[in-house]
Amino acid sequence: MESFHRIELPREIIIGREVISKVGNFCQTYGFQDSAIVVTGPKTFHIAGETVLNSLKEYGFSKVECIKIPSADLENVKRVKQMIEELSPSILIGVGGGKNIDVTKLACLDETSNKTLPYISVPTVASHDGIASPRASIRGLDTSYSVMVQSPIAVIADTGIIKNSPYRYLASGSADVIANITATADWELAYKLKSEYYGEFANTLAKMCAEFIIRNARVITKGIEESYRIVLEALISSGIAISIAGTSRPASGSEHAFSHALDIVAGHPALHGEQVGVGTIMMAYLHGLDWEKIRETLRIIRAPTNAKQLGVSDEAIIKALMKAHEIRGSSRYTILGENGLTKEAAINLAKVCEVIE
Ligand SMILES: [Zn+2]
Repeated sequence: MESFHRIELPREIIIGREVISKVGNFCQTYGFQDSAIVVTGPKTFHIAGETVLNSLKEYGFSKVECIKIPSADLENVKRVKQMIEELSPSILIGVGGGKNIDVTKLACLDETSNKTLPYISVPTVASHDGIASPRASIRGLDTSYSVMVQSPIAVIADTGIIKNSPYRYLASGSADVIANITATADWELAYKLKSEYYGEFANTLAKMCAEFIIRNARVITKGIEESYRIVLEALISSGIAISIAGTSRPASGSEHAFSHALDIVAGHPALHGEQVGVGTIMMAYLHGLDWEKIRETLRIIRAPTNAKQLGVSDEAIIKALMKAHEIRGSSRYTILGENGLTKEAAINLAKVCEVIE
């Protein structure tokens, strides 16, 4: 084990209207020049990628390439890496929802030399805490959960663009932050029962992010520009709690394990935050926390609270509950314990919380 604790944080967080048209300017201020790669998707190119590209050119970046990726898998990470080799860019910019930013994160890491290239995160939706965290989820890796990478050098969130995304993404992002309630409870438990490394400050910060969302639920549900700012700030701060902890522990516990298990059982049935939110209700019940308040908040925010709203069968919920403890094996102890739930306990839990009928 290393004798020091390293915290890598974003240098700048910019939230506001039309900030993406100044990406080139910000890059210049950070000392980057000449060359850059913009990683975006076929749709997000028109929403934001093109503006970022033009901004870079406007601010003197003469070698700018844009790569449009259809999915977050290893094949696309390889394509971006190849472009990095050809262009030797000073900076990468991930523009879009989760997948473009995740591919950017992973492509910036050279596994053989362990050297990293800096990247900027430009989210077009506020649907999960990956927009500012040092974690990436890529299909094709051995794990169904996210892996640790580096933090973005900057997060540039244009509220003008993000507020045009469907409201559903905002509700999902809110639920991903509410999950910190059970994630932090799981971390405390692992610390007490298994002497796991624990960071009280990161844990407190993550919990505060969730409480901030709960307090502001009635503003969030309005879907006004203020709603987007609130959720963005909480998501980014949640990502920072992960950076401070050096592990996703403060933002990912048994509720995330349930969601990953549901992905395996039912093939990614809903948005990440939506699944995690339903998991949070049930895991809060197991922890003896105020699960009804969590459910009420999710209802106010208009996020799913049951199997029907997630578009899955009752059986899938039971299977995912019984499988959740296996997700990270013994490496992440949670309220689900080492052996997980029995079928009877899983049915009982889902019924009591009215996740199934
Ligand atoms: Zn999450």
